Amino acid sequence: MKILRLPLLCLIPVLGVGAAPVPQVDLLIRGGTVYSGSDAPFTGDVAVTEVRVQAVGRRLELRARRVIDAKGMIVAPGFIDPHTHVGEQLKSEDPRARLVPGFLMQGVTTAVIGSDGGGSPDMAAVFRHKPVGINYAAHVGFGAVREAVIGEVDRPPTEAELARMKAMVAHAMCAGAIGLSSGLFYAPQSFAKTEEVAALAAEAGKRGGIYDSHIRDESSYGIGLAAAIDEAIAIGRLGSVPVNISHIKALGVDVQGQAPAIIARVEAARRAGQRVTADQYPWSASGTSLAASLVPRWAHDGGRTALLARFDDAALSKRLRADMADNLRRRGGAASLLITEGEFRGQRLDGIAKARGADPISAAIEVIRKQDPAVASFNQTEADITTFMRQPWVMTSSDASTGHPRSYGSFARKYAHYVLGSRAISLPDFIERSTALPADTLGLKDRGRLKRGGFADIVVFDPKRYAERATYEAPTQLAVGVRTVVVNGVLAVDQGKLTGAAAGRALAKAPPPGGC
Ligand SMILES: [Zn+2]
Repeated sequence: MKILRLPLLCLIPVLGVGAAPVPQVDLLIRGGTVYSGSDAPFTGDVAVTEVRVQAVGRRLELRARRVIDAKGMIVAPGFIDPHTHVGEQLKSEDPRARLVPGFLMQGVTTAVIGSDGGGSPDMAAVFRHKPVGINYAAHVGFGAVREAVIGEVDRPPTEAELARMKAMVAHAMCAGAIGLSSGLFYAPQSFAKTEEVAALAAEAGKRGGIYDSHIRDESSYGIGLAAAIDEAIAIGRLGSVPVNISHIKALGVDVQGQAPAIIARVEAARRAGQRVTADQYPWSASGTSLAASLVPRWAHDGGRTALLARFDDAALSKRLRADMADNLRRRGGAASLLITEGEFRGQRLDGIAKARGADPISAAIEVIRKQDPAVASFNQTEADITTFMRQPWVMTSSDASTGHPRSYGSFARKYAHYVLGSRAISLPDFIERSTALPADTLGLKDRGRLKRGGFADIVVFDPKRYAERATYEAPTQLAVGVRTVVVNGVLAVDQGKLTGAAAGRALAKAPPPGGC
C-alpha cells in the first residue's frame, strides 16, 4: 500500500506569520475504507482539487470546501465498464438520459462504446458530444468498416478493399479509438475469415489498441465455443494485438459446463506470452430478440419481409421449423425465453404457447409476425458464471442494452450476489476487476486507481446496502446503496441522489509515442 502525500507546494504556508494555515482542497472524502484499485484497503481520506485526486492517505490534514463523511463506507475508483451499448443514449436529446442514471447510480463513471463491431469509424463524430454524465471511450467497429467498404455481401475483400479497410481502422485509431471491436457472430461480420480480421486488428495493435471480440460462436451454432475462443486468440497472435473476449460465457445446453476448458485455452495463451483478457456480465440470461434467438441465420437473408414470407412458404416451413426447434432446444426450451417488451412482455414462451393451445414454435412464429420482441434468454449455468468470474483476467461489464436489467444493475448485482451472497469472489477482487484491470486493459490513462494526480472518478457506497433493484420484469430500477459519485472532480451523485451534473468526458486515446 502506498500512502500518497500532498505536493510540496501545498504544504508551504501561503499567508505570513503564526501557525501554518491548513491547505484547502475542493472535496475531502473522510474516514472511509479506501480501495485504491489495486492495493490493500485502509481506513483513510481522499482529497480532490479540480478534476484530479490531490491526495490519498490515512489522515489528511486539510480543509475542504466540502467534506463527505464516509465512515463505514467503501471508497473506490469509479467503476469502468468495458462493454456497453450506451452510445445512442450518450447522443440523446434528453439531458437526463445523457447522464446515464443507471450507470451513475451504480458508481460506473466510464463506459466503452462501439462494441460488437458496431463502432463508427468517424471518431470525430463519436467524440463530439453534448454534456454527458459519464466518461466514454470508443472502439472502431470491424462490422462498420467492412460494411462501409464491401457492403453486406458474403465474399472476401479484394486486395484494394482490404487496404481501404486497414486505412480506415488506422485512421480511427489515430483519431482516438481504443481498439477494434468485432461481432463475428453477426452477419455480415460472420462472412469474414480469420486472416481478414487479423489484418485489421493488427492496425489497432500497432497503435497501442486492443482487439475486442464478441466471438464467432458462444454456443454450438457453427464452429462452436472452443473453436471461437481459439480464433480470437489466433487473431491476437497473427495481429500482434492484445485480445479481449467480450461477455465471456458458455451459452446453451450443448456447451454448459465448458468454462474450465475455455479457461484452460485462455491460460495457455497467456502463459505463451499473449495478452488475453475477458469481460463478463453477472446474469444467467443474455439479451437478444426472439427471432435472433430462434430463427436460423439463412432465414434472415433479405430481412424481415423475406423472413415472414418464409414462414408462409410450405416448401421451406418444415426446415425452418426444425431449425427453430433445434435452436430452442439449444437455448434450454420454451421456459427459458422471457419476452421483455411489447404485448407479451413478462411472459415466457411456454406460457404463451399454453395459452394458445399451440406448440412453442408456432407460438414464437405468431409473436414474431406481430413484432420481433426483445427477450431475456436464460442459457448459462451459475457454475460456469462463477468459474469465469473467479479468473483474475475477467473484468466486470454490463453489455448494457435495453430490455435487460444488466444496464441498471450489473456492478451492484455482482457485489450483492457474488461478493456478499455466494462469496464467489472477494471485495478487493471485485473492485480491481471493475477499476484498475479495465483501465490497464483498455489503456485508460490516469483512471481506474485512486492516486495522486489521477482523475477524480470516485464511488462511495454502503457495503451493507449496495445492490441491484433491476429485474427481468422491471429492468430499469436504479441500484441502491451508492452514496456519492464523483466524475472528473464533480459530484454526480450526492447523498444518494443524482445532482444533474454532466461532468463526463470523451476519452480519446492519445496517439502512440512516435506519432501515428
Ligand atoms: Zn456482444
